Amino acid sequence: MVTLVDLPPALITTVAIVLGLVLGSFLNVVIYRVPRGTSLVWPGSSCPACGKAIAAYDNIPVLSWLFLLGRARCCKARISSRYPLVEAIAGLYAWSLVTMVVGDLPPDTLWWRLIIIFVLHLSLGLGLVAAAFIDLEHMILPDGITLGGTVIGVVTAAIRPGMDIKSSLLGAALGFVGIWLPFDVLYRKIRGKVGMGLGDAKLVMLAGAWFGWQGALFALLAGSVQGTFAMIAVLVARGRIDEPDAVVQERRERLEEVQRAATIEERERLAQEIAADPVLAQLPSEQLGSAKFAFGPFLALSIIEFQLLSATGFYRNWANL
Ligand SMILES: [Zn+2]
Repeated sequence: MVTLVDLPPALITTVAIVLGLVLGSFLNVVIYRVPRGTSLVWPGSSCPACGKAIAAYDNIPVLSWLFLLGRARCCKARISSRYPLVEAIAGLYAWSLVTMVVGDLPPDTLWWRLIIIFVLHLSLGLGLVAAAFIDLEHMILPDGITLGGTVIGVVTAAIRPGMDIKSSLLGAALGFVGIWLPFDVLYRKIRGKVGMGLGDAKLVMLAGAWFGWQGALFALLAGSVQGTFAMIAVLVARGRIDEPDAVVQERRERLEEVQRAATIEERERLAQEIAADPVLAQLPSEQLGSAKFAFGPFLALSIIEFQLLSATGFYRNWANL
């Protein structure tokens, strides 16, 4: 049987990077369509400005955007630099996975086991990248990624090196309760409003399901530190923290819906729906303590850091406490 040691590193690396770039292109579809509730598979890629279908040769990761100088071929509309950025991140990430996670497997690892472990880790990381960009734009972490990723983490715990189902379940439970209890329940009791979203608790639960309590704790601590630094950087650079445009637009649309409601009952029901939504209910404020800042991207980043670093000898001593 072919094992890791029989495969040329250049071949593994090339296949991984190409796969990462192609999946990065699909990730853009996920980031655009999941929050809008549309199908991921149909229709194929279309121009975000005029809706015209995009030909395969104009959909080559990173290169097409550079070649067309960031504009659509159909209507010359500007295409966000987020598209090539996400593709480049996915390609670089796949390369890091091969170097750090696959490179850390025993040399006699069978080829099919190697593929399973690589694909599992790749899907985790790409799911986290999608969650991070969706949270940045909409301040929402989709359950499909946070809960779906938690289930995959628990189910695959037994076949991933250094993990077992007991540590996975314990990590998931501690991760969820560890954020939900202090930040959601207590904060709501003390200050009468929601602190961290439930989505953040689900994301730390995912970290625990994949990497045990150490992963959940690292995600929470490293995520908080990096998130705080990023928040300070935004404040220094722009003087304030703005709500994402998509959130402003959704609030406007929902309020118009209330205005248009035919009956008083319906109007009240819609108004209550908005009041129950932690993102839409609070208007942006000048106070730093109530600034809306997506924490999900920093949790996602920290989980990826733990995933890559815990596979290398340098970090394993801490991870195996
Ligand atoms: Zn167009």
